[in-house]
Amino acid sequence: MVEAFAVASGKGGTGKTTSTLALGMALADRYDVTVIDADTGMANMLFHTGLDDADVTLHDLLVEGRGAAVEDAVYDRFGLSVVPCGTSLDAFEAADPARLRDVVAELAADTDVLLLDSPAALGSKSAVLPVVLADRVVVVLQPTIPSLSDGLKVQEYARSYGTETAGVLFNRVRPDEDVERVAEQAAQYFGGTTLAAVPESDAVRAARREGKPLLAHAPKDPAADAFREAAASLEVRS
Ligand code: ADP
Ligand code: MG
Repeated sequence: MVEAFAVASGKGGTGKTTSTLALGMALADRYDVTVIDADTGMANMLFHTGLDDADVTLHDLLVEGRGAAVEDAVYDRFGLSVVPCGTSLDAFEAADPARLRDVVAELAADTDVLLLDSPAALGSKSAVLPVVLADRVVVVLQPTIPSLSDGLKVQEYARSYGTETAGVLFNRVRPDEDVERVAEQAAQYFGGTTLAAVPESDAVRAARREGKPLLAHAPKDPAADAFREAAASLEVRS
């Protein structure tokens, strides 16, 4: 059985792509993991995985008539099956988001864990579909009250489509931030788990510059430890 997680947030830049790849690599020890860049308007997974020049991407599966097969858009990288998305605005506009359902179904037949890197704001069809298709959602937040309020909306939205929250992943936590206080508030608001608190780390930025996921670039960095802790807390049901 496959379990699909959407990695979502209220706003962009919270670290969804970084988190998707880090959770994926942490889970890849035990499971066959496929990561999909379903943030089709603001795709950037290709830059985190050295796939900047990928010939076939998710866009080619979502735009009718391109004739690409799903397996053509799957790349073996860092022990993961990676489905990157292109960055062309034309392709984004031509894409039919509804086709993502079939792509996900086909990928699900061949993997244990699917991680859907999801768009930030949940208003449009292309933005909400990854959350709809997932079994559970990982909400990536900064450890602040405004960010919690965003996260609560993501949770409500996801629930309205029958997708439960797997937990909150606090990212970019600075030493002066009282993450425990915010985690308590999160428990109160979300009624659920804090998966981990990932520190702000130079290694995360350096990894992206190298075109590598954090766990490949700096597996011993404290941020990598925190992502492994988050992955363990997910209690995957595959
Ligand atoms: P999103 O996919 O939510 O837009 P990204 O994962 O692309 O976010 O991260 C946005 C930026 O923040 C990237 O430049 C990334 O390197 C940086 N970043 C993410 N998490 C951290 C962290 N824990 N420490 C330092 N920089 C981070
Ligand atoms: Mg992203």
